Amino acid sequence: MTEHWQRRAWAEVDLDAISSNAGVLKAVASPAALCAVVKADGYGHGAVPVASAALAGGATSLGVALVEEGVVLREAGLEVPILLLSEPAAEAMGEVVARDLIPTVYTQPGLDAIRRAATRASRRVDVEVKLDSGMHRVGADFDEARRIVEQVVQAPELRYAGLWTHLAVADEPADPFTGEQLSRFDALRSSLEAAGLPSPARLHAANSAGAIAHASSRYDLVRCGISLYGYLPSTAVSPEPIEAAGAGALRPALTWKTQVSHVRTLGAGERTSYGRAYALAERADIATVPVGYADGVPRGLFQGGGELLVGGRRRRVAGTVTMDQLLVDCGPDSGVRCGDEVVLIGSQGAETVSAQEWADRIGTISYEILCRIGPRLPRRHVRGAVGPL
Ligand SMILES: *Cc1c(COP(=O)(O)O)cnc(C)c1O
Repeated sequence: MTEHWQRRAWAEVDLDAISSNAGVLKAVASPAALCAVVKADGYGHGAVPVASAALAGGATSLGVALVEEGVVLREAGLEVPILLLSEPAAEAMGEVVARDLIPTVYTQPGLDAIRRAATRASRRVDVEVKLDSGMHRVGADFDEARRIVEQVVQAPELRYAGLWTHLAVADEPADPFTGEQLSRFDALRSSLEAAGLPSPARLHAANSAGAIAHASSRYDLVRCGISLYGYLPSTAVSPEPIEAAGAGALRPALTWKTQVSHVRTLGAGERTSYGRAYALAERADIATVPVGYADGVPRGLFQGGGELLVGGRRRRVAGTVTMDQLLVDCGPDSGVRCGDEVVLIGSQGAETVSAQEWADRIGTISYEILCRIGPRLPRRHVRGAVGPL
C-alpha cells in the first residue's frame, strides 16, 4: 500500500485485532482448526494483510469465493491451503491446479474438469466435496454427493481432502433447521463409511455462527469470516460461548476515518443536500464530510437516522448522502472546524458507531456494510491504535 495519502479519508484496519480475533475463534472452536474466510477482499479489509494476520493468530487455512481471489493470495506469497468455497468453472481448473488451490466439487462436469486438469499437469490434486444439506444454493444432493465421493476416492490423480456443507440459519440459533442439516451431513458420512470409503482429512460445516453458537457443527474445521473481522454474525447470536472460552472478546478491526472538509453556519429553516430533505430546526453548524455512496456509505443512511462522530460526539447525517460527500448537523456553536477528525465506523472518545448499527438502520447485515466499502477508499493497515494522519 502506498505511504502517501492524497485523500483525507481512509479505513484503518487493525491487524492486531484480526490476529486476536483468530486466536479467540480458535479457542472457541478447539480442537477444530480455523479456516480464515477472506473472500471479497477480506470483507473489505484487504485480503492479503488480513490473511497474514489471521494465520499469525492461529488460522491454518484460507477460504475464498473465486479463483481470482486465491491467485491474489498466492501471488502475495501465502503458501497455506486455500479452499475455493464454490465449484470453479471448468475452464478455470487449469489455473486452480497451477496455483495449488483446493477446488470444491459437486457436479459431474466439475469433477471431470478437475480430473482432466490434474492429469494434464501430472499432479495429484486435493479436492473437497460439498453436500447441499438444505440451503439449496450450491452443493450436490445426497445421492450425487455419494457418487462424486466414490469417483474422487478412486481417481489416482485426486486426493479426497474434505467433505463439507453450509448452514442456512446458523445465525438464528433457535431454528431447528441447523440440527436437521447436520443430521443430513452425518447421514452422508455414515453411508460413505458403511460403503467402505475412507474418511477425508477434514469434515466441516460451520461458518462464524455455527462455530460460535452450534458446538455440534464444529467437526474438524470452522470457516469464519465476519467474526474474524470482529462482528457477531447477527444480534441473535450470543457472545456467551466466546466469553466462556476465556480468550478475550472479538474486536472490530476496521475504523473508517476522514476529516471535515468544509463548515458553514446555517439559520433555522434552511434545507440541505439533494431533495432538500433535511430542514434545520434552529441555527446550526453544518459540516461537510468528503465521503459518499461511491465509497460505500449507504445512501439510505440519512433516512435511517444515521449518525457519525465528530469531536467525540454523535452527529446526525443532515440530508441525502451524495456520491462523494455527505453533511452532518453539529448543532449551534459546535466549535467544529475544517480538518477535524470524523469517524464514520469505529470509536472516537467514548462513543462508538459500528457496522452493525448502520446495518440495523438501513435493514441489512454488517457483512454488506463492510464489503461495500469501496476500492476508492484507501486501506491503512496498522497494528494497535494509531493517532491522526
Ligand atoms: C462466506 C462463507 C463463510 C463465512 O461466513 P461467515 O458468516 O462470514 O463466517 C463460510 N462458508 C461459506 C461456504 C461461505 O460462503
